Amino acid sequence: MASDDARIDTVSGSANTWIIGDDDEVIVIDPGDDAAAVLEAVGDERAIVAVICTHGHAAHAAAAIEVAGRDEAPVALHPADRQSWRELHDADPDIEMEDEGRFGVAGVELEVLHAPGHSRGSVVLYCDELQAAFTGDVLSQDGPVPHERDFPNWGRQLDAIGATVLTLPPDTRLLPGHGDEFTVADAEKRFNSWVAGGQDIGSGGKES
Ligand SMILES: [Zn+2]
Repeated sequence: MASDDARIDTVSGSANTWIIGDDDEVIVIDPGDDAAAVLEAVGDERAIVAVICTHGHAAHAAAAIEVAGRDEAPVALHPADRQSWRELHDADPDIEMEDEGRFGVAGVELEVLHAPGHSRGSVVLYCDELQAAFTGDVLSQDGPVPHERDFPNWGRQLDAIGATVLTLPPDTRLLPGHGDEFTVADAEKRFNSWVAGGQDIGSGGKES
C-alpha cells in the first residue's frame, strides 16, 4: 500500500472526527458521540483498524466503544485520562498510549505526542507523511481549548503546545478537535497573544 493513497476525511459532531486511511483501512480519531454518523463516513468497504481518543472527554470519546466494536478494533487512550473515560464506559481501553508510540494505517504512521494540560492524558497525533497533526483540545484556531469554561492546567497546556506543536514543521496542517484547521505557522504567529490573553475565556469559550 502506497502512502499516496492515504487521505483524511472528517465528520463534524460533538467534536471533529478525523478518519485517516485509504480504500481498505482506516484509523478513527475522536469518534465524538454519534457512532452512526462516523460509521457512515467510514463506509462498509473500509476496515477500522483502531479508534484513537485524543483524550477522555465525552464530546470526543463517547462513541469510541461503539465505533470500534463494528470491526472489533482496539480503542487507544492515554492512561492518565482513565478517570474521565470511566465516566463514559464500563470497558477499559484496549491500548494505553505512551509518548512516542506509533500507529500504522494505509502506509502512513501516526506518532503519539503526550501533551498534558487540557487533561492529564491529552495527546497530539502527528503524521509526517501527511504533514498533519491532530491536536484534540490541546489547541484550536482560537487558542488553547478550555474544559467546562476552565483551564485545568493553563501553564502545562501552554508548555505542551510549545513542546509538541510549535516544534513541528511550519506548514504542518493542524486538525483540531473543534473548529477549522490551521497551520503551525499560524499558531506560531498567535502564540504570544494567547499567552498575553491568559485564562480569560470570555463569552466565546467552548465546552470541550
Ligand atoms: Zn476536552
